[in-house]
Amino acid sequence: MSFDVDNIRKDFPILQREVNGYPLVYLDNAATSQKPQAVIDAIVAYYSHYNANIHRGVHTLSQEATDAYEQARQKIQQHFHIGKPEEVIFTSGTTHGINLVANGFASLLKTGDELLVSAMEHHSNIVPWQMLCEKTGATLKVIPMNLSGELEMDVFNTLLTEKTKLVFVNHVSNALGTINPVEEIIQKAHAFGAAVLVDGAQSCAHIRPDLTAWDVDFFVTSAHKMCGPTGVGMLYGKKEWLNLLPPYQGGGEMIKEVSFEKTTYAELPHKFEAGTPNIAGGIAFGAAIDYLSKIGFEEIARYENELLDYASKQLLSIEGLKIYGTAENKTSVISFNIDGIHPYDIGTIVDKLGIAVRTGHHCAQPIMDYFKIPGTVRASFAFYNTREEVDRLVAAVKRAKNMLS
Ligand SMILES: *Cc1c(COP(=O)(O)O)cnc(C)c1O
Repeated sequence: MSFDVDNIRKDFPILQREVNGYPLVYLDNAATSQKPQAVIDAIVAYYSHYNANIHRGVHTLSQEATDAYEQARQKIQQHFHIGKPEEVIFTSGTTHGINLVANGFASLLKTGDELLVSAMEHHSNIVPWQMLCEKTGATLKVIPMNLSGELEMDVFNTLLTEKTKLVFVNHVSNALGTINPVEEIIQKAHAFGAAVLVDGAQSCAHIRPDLTAWDVDFFVTSAHKMCGPTGVGMLYGKKEWLNLLPPYQGGGEMIKEVSFEKTTYAELPHKFEAGTPNIAGGIAFGAAIDYLSKIGFEEIARYENELLDYASKQLLSIEGLKIYGTAENKTSVISFNIDGIHPYDIGTIVDKLGIAVRTGHHCAQPIMDYFKIPGTVRASFAFYNTREEVDRLVAAVKRAKNMLS
């Protein structure tokens, strides 16, 4: 089946709506993606037909819900090419996954240990590690980037030492679109005995990562950026690491036996899944993976790259427009500014014309500091966007520029 964007758009009910009297042009996919009917249906089906708590009841509904939830775990395992289902931990999202790992490392680090973070991280892959450093006396060091928004790998090589315990980096930058050379980073870090966590929140809608081939230690992502619902995500951890880390939260589901004298913890993955999870969300995460896989990640990448090239050329034809993030290897994110105009003002005017873009620092203030700007306008494209929508964006930005300058 060949890629047919008109047919694909019919799968997304929200794409039929109007905003401020214009057909919606949704270009804020890096913040969250829209949801196809198949994902919405999975949520409705759960609540309509087999809503029950999981792993506990012997009754039919509970068994059906448990089966569906565990099937979703297997879909995630297969999709990301993960060795064992118990290495897939359901979380509430990327932020939760990173905090879980950072919390677990508190007992494993000491003063003098070093952690490496890239210069282009989302705040959620910076702040939990700073909190960890405060607790343990470990030091955070930064892998710098260049003006194209690419990591300076030769500096990374010099930062890596026997003191390095952990390296964390995003697969794709949400503010710049850069695809980082994670496999090279993992290989080099391992040579020094350091573990690596990859933040995949921004990549999973565009690329299918092979976590076994990468040999990564931890990987986190959120369902909502890959056509799934909000409030659910996954943490992959190598079994040896997950067994070593202490639980993050205590409660029901994560225990083997509880008495007031001593509690023993459940086996993986339940050790890290305290409390009633987002059951509908987990099941719908599986439906989102099914949906994207049916379209095919190669097709998605090919189409989005064409859209990215077209949009970059068209936007750059506007005088005074500068794009931040021009890495050789990037996904369909365009961060830009126009000389002398505040990004917020552009965002407000294009919204009046029915176009949703993001403005601001995109939870990545260090990147904005590096470029010495307060923020950018960010247009981020998904496989359901079209060339006509790019044309509408370009026309709207031109109009905003004329009104504001
Ligand atoms: C969105 C995003 C996050 C945070 O994800 P949440 O779903 O808000 O937890 C972290 N890192 C990157 C690169 C992101 O794009």
